[in-house]
Amino acid sequence: MVQEEVLALVDQGLMLPLMEEFYTIQGEGFHKGTAAYFIRVGGCDVGCHWCDVKESWNAETHPPTGIDHIVANAAKYSDTIVITGGEPLTWDMGPITAALKAKNLKTHIETSGAYPLSGTWDWICLSPKKNKLPEGIIYDKAHELKVIVYNKHDLIFAEQEAAKTNRECILYLQPEWSVRDKVVPMIVDYVMKNPKWKVSLQTHKYLNIP
Ligand code: SF4
Repeated sequence: MVQEEVLALVDQGLMLPLMEEFYTIQGEGFHKGTAAYFIRVGGCDVGCHWCDVKESWNAETHPPTGIDHIVANAAKYSDTIVITGGEPLTWDMGPITAALKAKNLKTHIETSGAYPLSGTWDWICLSPKKNKLPEGIIYDKAHELKVIVYNKHDLIFAEQEAAKTNRECILYLQPEWSVRDKVVPMIVDYVMKNPKWKVSLQTHKYLNIP
């Protein structure tokens, strides 16, 4: 296939720059502890300085892969598929989620919401970033809001973002891993004073699994 054809298919969401895919335990948020198959799509220009998957940023370093291939592989492992990144909404998520739903698989997304929402989702985890705030409708659709806490100001940001979400949205504060020792006591104290929030930990990192 010539390069232009590949780019056209990526543009249509029929191919995606696949960084990695793996079957593991969801470590964070509402579904923590639950087995799921993760599809990590390359490409993100949000630029969080503490990002722990910076190798995902440049989409060109990840091979454009047909969604049929990705979906067939995922279906072998789990009925719950988490699409993460990078920033998956860089791409049109319509075709891959349609293909996953056609196989009766549950579709979950982890997104900063930096780009317009596409795709059909059973679960939307919105993790907004100050660098590039989410666009409109995703606040109404999000099932959970997960704010990464790196410093004290992130608690103010968390409240600003929570105010934009729908009423059922579950609110999580999650320590950024590299500063967890410093911010966990602050988060614990904050959640006890503001119990609409819950603590989310990256339990997969404690378990030493992907
Ligand atoms: S949005 Fe996610 S993938 Fe992109 S830079 Fe921030 S933490 Fe990394």
